[in-house]
Amino acid sequence: MNAIKHLISIKRLTTETLFNEIIPACINMVPQTISAKATTPNHSLKAVLYFDEDSTRTRMSFAEAIRLLGWDMAQETLACNSRNKKESWLDTLMMWYNYNAKIICARTHQEGVHLWLAEMVEKYNLNMSIINAGDGRNQHPTQTILDLVTIQNKLGRLDDFKIGFVGDLLKSRTTHSLLDALRMRNNISIVCVAPDNVCLPAYHAEGFSNFTQGSDMELLHDCDIINSVRWQAERLEPNSHEFLAFLRIKQKYQINKNLLERLKKGVIIMHALPIDQEVEEICHDIMDDPRVIPYQQAWFGVPSRMAILQIVSQNLTQHISFNHTRNAVIRELKKSSLSEALSATSRKQHDHFVPLEHGMVIDHLEPGSGIIIRMMLKRMEGIKDGIMIVENTKPHKDMLVIKENFLTNDSMIRIAGLSPNATFNIMRNEFFRKIKIDQPQQIISGTGKCLNKNCVTRSGEPSISPRFINRGKNSHPFECDYCGQHFTLSEILPLST
Ligand code: ASP
Ligand code: ASP
Repeated sequence: MNAIKHLISIKRLTTETLFNEIIPACINMVPQTISAKATTPNHSLKAVLYFDEDSTRTRMSFAEAIRLLGWDMAQETLACNSRNKKESWLDTLMMWYNYNAKIICARTHQEGVHLWLAEMVEKYNLNMSIINAGDGRNQHPTQTILDLVTIQNKLGRLDDFKIGFVGDLLKSRTTHSLLDALRMRNNISIVCVAPDNVCLPAYHAEGFSNFTQGSDMELLHDCDIINSVRWQAERLEPNSHEFLAFLRIKQKYQINKNLLERLKKGVIIMHALPIDQEVEEICHDIMDDPRVIPYQQAWFGVPSRMAILQIVSQNLTQHISFNHTRNAVIRELKKSSLSEALSATSRKQHDHFVPLEHGMVIDHLEPGSGIIIRMMLKRMEGIKDGIMIVENTKPHKDMLVIKENFLTNDSMIRIAGLSPNATFNIMRNEFFRKIKIDQPQQIISGTGKCLNKNCVTRSGEPSISPRFINRGKNSHPFECDYCGQHFTLSEILPLST
C-alpha cells in the first residue's frame, strides 16, 4: 500500500488506499467527533490553514479536527500573506517549514499548486505534508472523502446506485473529484443536468458505462442521490456573456418542493454548500426535509478531516517520488549490422530515407504529429537542419528522418509520451538498432504550455515546468498533470508561439 503523505487529488490515490484505508479511518473518528473531546495536546505537530479563497466549512472543520487531535494550528489568508507581495510558492513553503509547520492545508485560487508544493517538499527533503483543501476549478479531495462517508452512512453502500449532478458542472471541483472516486466503484450510473455552457466536459465522464447528460431536470427522477452544485459565479467575469447567461437561467436548476415530490422514494439530496441565497439551488423551505442532508454531510467533514490529518502525520518522514519518467523502459526491438538493415529497408515501400548511415528515423508517429515534434526538437534539442518529415504514409503514420544527429534518452521518452507507438531507428557506427519506449503512464515533461491561465505552471514560479499525461482515448488526450485540464497536441505544442 502506498504511504499517504500528501493529499493532492483523488486520482492520485489507489482504490485500495481510498476505500480500505481512508474511508474506514474516517468512520472510526465519528465517536470522538460526537464526544467533542480533544485528545492530549501534541505540540510537536503544527498545521497551517492557508486559504486564499473563501471558505466556512472546509476551514472550520479542519480547525475543529486539529483541535480534537490536540495539535497546534496557524491560520493564514491572502489578506495577511506575502503571496500578496508576489512571493513565490517555494519561498512561502520554506517559511512555513522554518516555523515548524508540518501539515499544510491549503485552498488556492490557482490550480495545481498542491502538486508543485508536494514536489518541492520531496525535492528539499522536508518532513511536511500538503493537503489540497480545494484548488480553483480543479479538485477538492477532502470534500469527496466526506461525501463518500456521507453516502456510506446514508445508503449503507458505495456501489450500485444512480447519482445525479445538477448545476455548474464545468467549474465544480467537488463534482470532478467525486466522479474520480465513483469511477473506482461498481455499477454506478451517472446523470448530469446542466445547461450547455457549463456542462460536464466529456473526459470527466470516461470510465462510466452508464452516463447521461442533458438539461432537463426530469432526468433526475430515478436517482438514489442528487448532488446539487452551486453556480460558481465568482469564477465568471462580471457582465461577461457567461455571467448574463447564468442570471437568466440560474433558477431553472433548483431543487424545490415540487420536484422533490416527483423524485424517487428515499432519494437523498446532497450539496457541498454554500447555497447561494439568491439562486437557492436547494430551496430553503425544504432544508429541514429528512431527504435533504447538506448539514449532516458538512458535519462529516470533521471526522473525515481528522482521519486524513492523522494518516498523513504518520507518513511525514516517508519519501514520495514524483519522477514518473524514471519508470520508462527503453526496449531494444532489433539490432544488426547497418548493411543488413539497409538492404532489408530498401526492399520496403518507405525508402525515402535510405541510405541513411548516420542518424535516426523516428517511425510510427501519430498522423499529424510529425510537424509538431519536429518543431519541438528544433526548439529543445537545437537540431536546426536535417530533419525531414514524411507525412501520412500508409499505414497512416508520420515519420521523421534526422540526419547526422541523435536524440537524448529524455527526448525519446518525451516523444514516446506524445506518440506512444513511436519507434526509434538508430544508424550509427555501422550498426543498426531499433528501440521502443514503454512507459506505465505516458508522461510528457519539460515541454509544451498549459492553456489554462490559472494553472500554477503559468504563475511565473521559478523553475516550474509543464507536464502532461497522454490519456490517449479522447479528442483532448493531453491532461495537464498540475491543473487537470485536457488539451489537444497542437494546443500544448502550437507551431507558432
Ligand atoms: N516581509 C518583510 C516586511 O514585512 C519584507 C517585505 O515585505 O518586503 O517588511
Ligand atoms: N464549498 C465547495 C467548494 O469549495 C462548493 C462550492 O463552493 O460551491 O468547492
